[in-house]
Amino acid sequence: MRLDEIRAAEAKLLLPTYERNPIHFVGGEGVHLIDEKGERYLDLLSGIGVNALGYGHPAIEKAIAEQSRKLIHISNLYFHEGQAELALRLTKMSGMDRAFFSNSGTEAWEAALKLARAHAGLQCSEGKAIGTKFLALENSFHGRTMGSVATTHKAKYREPFAPVMPGVEFVVFNDVADLKAKFSSDVCGVLIEAIQGEGGIRPVSKEFMAAARDLTLSTGALLICDEIQAGLGRTGKWFGYQHYDVQPDVMTIAKPLAGGLPLGAMLCTEEAARAIHPGMHGTTFGGGPLACAVALAVIETIEEENLLQHVTEVGTYFHGRLDELAEKHAAIVDVRGMGLMLAAELDSADLAKQVAGAMLEQRILINRTSETVLRFLPPFILGKDHVDHAIDALDSILTEHAPQTAGAPTTGGKNVG
Ligand SMILES: *Cc1c(COP(=O)(O)O)cnc(C)c1O
Repeated sequence: MRLDEIRAAEAKLLLPTYERNPIHFVGGEGVHLIDEKGERYLDLLSGIGVNALGYGHPAIEKAIAEQSRKLIHISNLYFHEGQAELALRLTKMSGMDRAFFSNSGTEAWEAALKLARAHAGLQCSEGKAIGTKFLALENSFHGRTMGSVATTHKAKYREPFAPVMPGVEFVVFNDVADLKAKFSSDVCGVLIEAIQGEGGIRPVSKEFMAAARDLTLSTGALLICDEIQAGLGRTGKWFGYQHYDVQPDVMTIAKPLAGGLPLGAMLCTEEAARAIHPGMHGTTFGGGPLACAVALAVIETIEEENLLQHVTEVGTYFHGRLDELAEKHAAIVDVRGMGLMLAAELDSADLAKQVAGAMLEQRILINRTSETVLRFLPPFILGKDHVDHAIDALDSILTEHAPQTAGAPTTGGKNVG
């Protein structure tokens, strides 16, 4: 089928959940996607933070080919070597003790929420007074299933599906006083993205993270970090919270974990894991042999190709070039992020929409999140030449659409704390 036929069929046949851009991709190579006419697009979004090794990486193709000849699925009723090997890697990288594998980000997050409730119940049975409430942050995004959506801040994601899971209160972003005011022994978990993704690439402050850690330790509540977007190397460290001097009790990962195959994981401490017994939680597909084999290949490739260092280097360069643009264009009001998780916030939602559209016309993929924020989540293999190409395009687009040059723009918020 060609693009116009696919569009017409989808418009009639699919639940209208997405407003897709009118492009039909048929292939990819490195940091580029290729459409049905053979046009190449520079991908600065990588499938919303999924395709960390870009397209057509030989390590991924090899892992898929080899494992698919052995076993694709066996259920969680039997052993295969993938989960143990992958858990060994992930626990070493994170300092966590145990893993549960899911198929997606939101399922990993559901596992974390269920673990927190079960852990609170266990502590109660041991004579400790601890409640069932969650504290989440304003601008948070944790997924689309009923529990995840209850902990997601934006009303448009939650309210059409009310009543969602009760017992969630939202804390003003980076407001330590508000966190302290809302925290009590009623709380079983504090939920944090170290660097908020959908919320506009906003890093929490060191003070806020430290306060969340201190408060939860004081009662036995769990500090739960959502690393689904920031985790696995995107910020230049394995996990976003590793830029802070804290160790969470529970964390979730997904997006880049299995090189584009669906796989998520919830990692936790031995203490938190005490709450779970056989039969309490599970999944049919989660942690299957194929997804685990590819995840191992992804992690090994990130190590072998020294990609954490590369992400830091190219990310710092990208950030610097965005700062230069902000000095030139008044329309850029902030540049934020770490590694290759970056954003340029513009002074209007309309402009951000126009700029993202104009970038697409120049065959560069970015997206707009939080209305005014241009978001960059490129593959980890991005080069400085690609950054220069994107910056030149942004420069000329901003000159055309927002010709006012800058006086003294702010570039605050680009570093942690
Ligand atoms: C994408 C994302 C999720 C949800 O992951 P899905 O795989 O889409 O369910 C949850 N939390 C964060 C921080 C995310 O970026």
